[in-house]
Amino acid sequence: MATLQQQHNIETMPPRRGRAPVTGKPAFFNIQQLERFAVKRGFDAVVAQRLWRVVIRALRDGGGESDDEVWERASKYCIDGRQKLPKVAVELASQNFRLFSSKLAHVAESKDTQTTKLVIELRDGHRVESVAMRHKSRTTVCVSSQIGCAMGCQFCATGTMNLIGDLDTCEILEQVALITRHECARSRPAPRNVVFMGMGEPLANYQSVSAAVTHLCDPFHFALRKKGVTVSTVGVAPALKKLTREHPEVRVALSLHAPSQELRARIVPAAKQWPLHELIEALDDHLNSVSRHSGSHDGLMIEYVLLKGVNDRREDADQLIALLRGKPVMLNLIPYNPNVTATLHGFEAPSIESCRAFGKVIIEGGLRVRLREEFGQDINAACGQLALATKDIEDLAPAPPAPAPEPAVASTSVVTDATAPPPPPRKPRAPPPKPPPPQWTALATASLAAAALAASLAAAAAVLR
Ligand code: SF4
Repeated sequence: MATLQQQHNIETMPPRRGRAPVTGKPAFFNIQQLERFAVKRGFDAVVAQRLWRVVIRALRDGGGESDDEVWERASKYCIDGRQKLPKVAVELASQNFRLFSSKLAHVAESKDTQTTKLVIELRDGHRVESVAMRHKSRTTVCVSSQIGCAMGCQFCATGTMNLIGDLDTCEILEQVALITRHECARSRPAPRNVVFMGMGEPLANYQSVSAAVTHLCDPFHFALRKKGVTVSTVGVAPALKKLTREHPEVRVALSLHAPSQELRARIVPAAKQWPLHELIEALDDHLNSVSRHSGSHDGLMIEYVLLKGVNDRREDADQLIALLRGKPVMLNLIPYNPNVTATLHGFEAPSIESCRAFGKVIIEGGLRVRLREEFGQDINAACGQLALATKDIEDLAPAPPAPAPEPAVASTSVVTDATAPPPPPRKPRAPPPKPPPPQWTALATASLAAAALAASLAAAAAVLR
């Protein structure tokens, strides 16, 4: 069967990545190198962390588009003394380090200006995508953790690329820093949330992702709230358990996509390696841990792409209810967006009516559900359509349920807000004495649409050349 590359005549796909070559000056966001440098120059190692702090502050304060402008502004922050950072340390860092080893190769902004997609060229020429999504006064960044993906989910365009390589921690952090510079230089708010939902399976690159999460949440580094960081996974169960142990407060989004092992193994090949029972065990561990650490259960989203006639049948809904009953999760229903995988596997998008009917059954079974009504399919911009774009871009905080007698039509959309307070916990009803009216939040996939505005598959081909 033709791969995405073959279908689009992408003949210049870069070879699989080895260790990314380090040429020229070292990268500033490589903290180990920065610490070694500081010590070598006679400073305390902690100076490296202070350098990060002033540079990140300079980026957030709209330090400017050029590296020199950012260094200059960072240098000014040494003056106030509170940073306990000698000005000469900034000068030395600016002379001996590259602020970024990656660079912006392409920027596309959605018509509604809510979302910006950035194609980022890594130091060895490979490219990944990051997305900035603006919701009111807050910005969420979606980052990539790998180039391509080895998981091969049948409905996902990225999965057809196969894995080219992993990103290192510095490359992940640089995505956040580059977007921060891009946004703040335009007087937009600095990103406050980061979701690992771009290219790749984050937990298949655990070490780099885990270190990046640590730096993002470190109050002396990027200083994001732990709940502001979300890691998605298609179900790498052992790594999910590790993440739960090492980052218990970080949010998780689990891409389930099927209620039984048999069906899951068919559409999500990774399920053969990490079967459903093992995944549910890891999921329970995570929920217990979240409950212990934060006293709430608002940290887990279950992603479920609805494929017509494949996993959207009544029996699938019943199995899903049985599988998740009693678990404090939010089920996010995502209608399939036809992409290259439609031809490869014969998938079709379900009608919105059948999506609503599916959701209604789930709600009546006592689970919390959101239906994402996709926009942007006309530009191949919605979920799963892009080979070089995010697969699953969204904020993860459960939006307050919006009671409605009938499922809302997504003519207007509600942007979920990861910083919004979670809704009060809802007790599962099994079986409900009287079926409640369906409750929906039609998610704004404008973010998705815009997220990938310039990345139709044709554009992806261009990017790869
Ligand atoms: S859905 Fe995610 S894990 Fe699956 S192939 Fe696509 S990028 Fe990889």
